[in-house]
Amino acid sequence: MWATLEQIIDRLKQGRAILVIGHAQPDGDAISSVAGLVTVLRRYGLSASGCIADDIPWYYKSLPGADLIASPRELRAHSFDTTVVVDSSDIDRIGEADVLFEGDVPDVTLDHHRTNRGFGRLNYCDPDSAATAMIVLDIARALVPVDRELAQILLLGIATDTGFFKYPSVGAHVLEAAAQLVQHGASIQRIASAVLENRSLNTLRLLARMFDTITLREEGKVAFGWVSKEALQETGCTDQDTEGFVGEIRALHGVEVAILFVESSEGEVHVSLRSKSFVDVSEVAAALGGGGHARAAGCSFKKASLDAVVDKVVTAAVQGFRKDARR
Ligand code: AMP
Ligand code: MN
Ligand code: MN
Repeated sequence: MWATLEQIIDRLKQGRAILVIGHAQPDGDAISSVAGLVTVLRRYGLSASGCIADDIPWYYKSLPGADLIASPRELRAHSFDTTVVVDSSDIDRIGEADVLFEGDVPDVTLDHHRTNRGFGRLNYCDPDSAATAMIVLDIARALVPVDRELAQILLLGIATDTGFFKYPSVGAHVLEAAAQLVQHGASIQRIASAVLENRSLNTLRLLARMFDTITLREEGKVAFGWVSKEALQETGCTDQDTEGFVGEIRALHGVEVAILFVESSEGEVHVSLRSKSFVDVSEVAAALGGGGHARAAGCSFKKASLDAVVDKVVTAAVQGFRKDARR
């Protein structure tokens, strides 16, 4: 059932051993909201552990919070009485972390994806929240003092999910929250230098190869590019190094919909969709089994060829573009 934040907080207070799970292929908001909630619950005197199925990308590891997140294997021997899933629009997003509460649904979900249908016992989802970390900040304010470390952890999700304060989700409320966190001692510069100014030369070479694949449709309003597994191998990169690539496609003049395809391993393709001003890419992603927000969404394919995924997704995105262009 859908719950208020007060009901969620009451439920969390009853937990004796709380497990907080974020989505696989973690981004800054998944890391921030898991580590932030674990920190809040521990400071409040509760026992809490954080878990994410896939590895934390290396460039987040220098920031506080990453060390509060374990793999499902590391937590297998523990038992938990309360499971919280954050920043995930459906249960499939948590990947192999589902082994930690077999066959069951999570007790609590906290999220901000408009495609979330509420898959836990108690669910809170605010699509107007710029990041799940904003929701965790509200919980923090209700329970504990926000110190420098907690502020730094929560600022990560807000900064990364807003494209460093430039997406349409950024209103005065987001800037006020960020300003408060900075007042508590958090540094935006520290996050920007870890996430934005930390690319290896190999990654730049991979980006150059991606640029060469860029293809335009609908008179340049729809643009897509791809990273094949050969390109990853030949440049010595992994799929983690493609963070931010889709933004480079969206930055192209005149583009409304940008799509990036990453073939992370044989048969596995992750698709990132972005739009600039009017196409709802969450509808396109949801129709393909994924989800997300109006201006940023994604979906993943298993056992599919890169070519077939490109064809299928581009066709769907062009249809979505034409539909929303008529509105
Ligand atoms: P990404 O393109 O991976 O950065 O994801 C953009 C947005 O879409 C994020 O808010 C994700 O949480 C969401 N998203 C990405 N992949 C999926 C997926 N396979 N299923 C549901 N939502 C997704
Ligand atoms: Mn996320
Ligand atoms: Mn998020």
